[in-house]
Amino acid sequence: MTRLLTICVVLIAMSVTVFAASDKQPAPPGALEDAPPQFTRFTAAELERGFLALAFGSDLRIGARPLGIRRFDHPIRVRIIGGGSVDRRIAMTRVIEDYAREVPGLQLSESMATDADIELRLIDEKDFQSALLAAFGAKIAKTFVARTDPQCMTSVKSTADGAIVHSVSFIIVDKGDDVFIDCAYHELLHAFGLSNHDQRNPWTTLNQKRMVGYLTVYDRSLLTLLYDERIKPGMTLRQARAVLRELIAERGLAAPPHSR
Ligand SMILES: [Zn+2]
Repeated sequence: MTRLLTICVVLIAMSVTVFAASDKQPAPPGALEDAPPQFTRFTAAELERGFLALAFGSDLRIGARPLGIRRFDHPIRVRIIGGGSVDRRIAMTRVIEDYAREVPGLQLSESMATDADIELRLIDEKDFQSALLAAFGAKIAKTFVARTDPQCMTSVKSTADGAIVHSVSFIIVDKGDDVFIDCAYHELLHAFGLSNHDQRNPWTTLNQKRMVGYLTVYDRSLLTLLYDERIKPGMTLRQARAVLRELIAERGLAAPPHSR
């Protein structure tokens, strides 16, 4: 009996592997030399799983726990606040342009306005603790560092109904090109509303065991879903799940099942 069960489990695991992500491609032009390659075709189940894991929950919640989707409900303006010992403003602008081009639903643009929706603060690592302290106060800064030992960090403020009011990201500029570019792409995903991490997901930049440094096809697909007008701020997990398959199919985000 036990032996039979074991065999079944192995078979299931194998069939999952057969239907896993496919069409591996090198990192896109412009990515760092040692950037990892990426899979570019995913099943609807793989996209749905990643979306639900990353759009719900976060490492640190302050105040009332929002239960649903968090996203902006209007065009997004991003302001870069340059700083630190290495000037990375131009590189940061390129990352913003990449997101704007690849995910039109964000309606993203760079802005100098002091009331921009997202603030990207470029800082040296030595100033990270004091920047957190200044932004959030001692108690929260300490809790955050103790929990996640972060290298970069994003805070997302939203209303009770899930609309993001303001995001602030701290991005470290003086620990090399790899750390900067990985943080830049990673933190913007948080700032847009993919608040969580998933260390078991091998395709997303929001797996903290990975260094990616470019906008992957997988993360682009998740953001495209999040900024489809049918995904509303405040939607519960159940409500999101009810529409995801249809959105994935309509937008042609998943690989056709019989092409494998
Ligand atoms: Zn993160």
